[in-house]
Amino acid sequence: MGDNRGVVYLGRDKVEVQSIDDPKMETPDGRLITHAAILKVVSTNICGSDQHMVRGRTTAQQGLVLGHEITGEVIEVGADVEMVAKGDLVSVPFNVACGRCQCCREQNTGVCLTVNPARPGGAYGYVDMGGWIGGQARYVMIPYADFNLLRFPDKAQAMSKIRDLTMLSDILPTGFHGAVTAKVGVGSTVYVAGAGPVGLAAAASARILGAAVVMIGDFNADRLAHAAKVGFTPVDLSKHDRLGEMVEAVVGRPEVDSFIDCVGFEARGHAGGEQPAVVLNQAMALTRAAGSIGIPGLYVTEDPGAVEEGARTGNLSLRFGQGWAKSQSFHTGQTPTLRYNRQLMQAILHDRLPIAEVVNATVIPLEQAAEGYKSFDDGAAKKFVLDPHGLLAA
Ligand code: ZN
Ligand code: ZN
Repeated sequence: MGDNRGVVYLGRDKVEVQSIDDPKMETPDGRLITHAAILKVVSTNICGSDQHMVRGRTTAQQGLVLGHEITGEVIEVGADVEMVAKGDLVSVPFNVACGRCQCCREQNTGVCLTVNPARPGGAYGYVDMGGWIGGQARYVMIPYADFNLLRFPDKAQAMSKIRDLTMLSDILPTGFHGAVTAKVGVGSTVYVAGAGPVGLAAAASARILGAAVVMIGDFNADRLAHAAKVGFTPVDLSKHDRLGEMVEAVVGRPEVDSFIDCVGFEARGHAGGEQPAVVLNQAMALTRAAGSIGIPGLYVTEDPGAVEEGARTGNLSLRFGQGWAKSQSFHTGQTPTLRYNRQLMQAILHDRLPIAEVVNATVIPLEQAAEGYKSFDDGAAKKFVLDPHGLLAA
């Protein structure tokens, strides 16, 4: 250490790689801890949820070190760490979780009750998530290391699949949770809203869970073309706004068993303007009676950039009666990464889930992070993976 660099948020549309302090084994409020590990970051991805901050759509403060999708090598462990050791290659769930509270004990690690004084749930490098320092950096500190870290069984094998395994920290378990909570099973008809990386991860998850057909809707032609290339049925929302018709053309009826919202609150309608509830209303319209809706897309409680007054405090114009009348199930919230990442790791290691290809993983140096953010924000059909030590390029 001594040469730490990280991606720092400097205000709307501005991130920069800067020299930052080396990580210390202490909580965001400065309490020393002995259950932590320090990682040398092997790969760390740019995420759509980072974009919400960078676009100025959250209350993120300048100076925040970004990055919650982290894979790394353990270089130091605290005195109370028993299960991981120096040299281990590990995946870090983006949820910071204590492993001790009621939610963690129920495997609901996305809403850990102790790692964030402001609300349930913590994350690295994210506004309102407890102040844990982000991992788009050369080094990072992980608390409760025994509980949080997933160790890869074989380092050389893992490095050969690192572009896939790097997706275990967030988007793959996030998409998988969307598919599981939308109750995708053998023969399901599935519609995924949003052909970005999480949408593609949800689609790949639906496929491995046995879906008969997986449609992905988006406005972005490049993203739709990529989705088609990796085996999903594209639905081009720029054509018209009669989504039911487009789905009927694929499955013979204007509805699906399972709907997965991978768009979230920055949704827009066919007319072009932002409509934060448009995907949720589509979900209720398109999902069959007694069908299920998974909502891994992010919704917020405060949105300083909202187009509607109510949406500034997260109040959306939902036609909720439609969902009620059809006895639909909804599931919201962050994925509890730890519930799924070990199984998904095995699926990757045994060539069952080519997630890097599906999301078009694209490796760039840490120092080019700002260009990656810009290109991703412009809608590139890519998932950017930062390579802080040049280990992936090698
Ligand atoms: Zn993420
Ligand atoms: Zn907890």
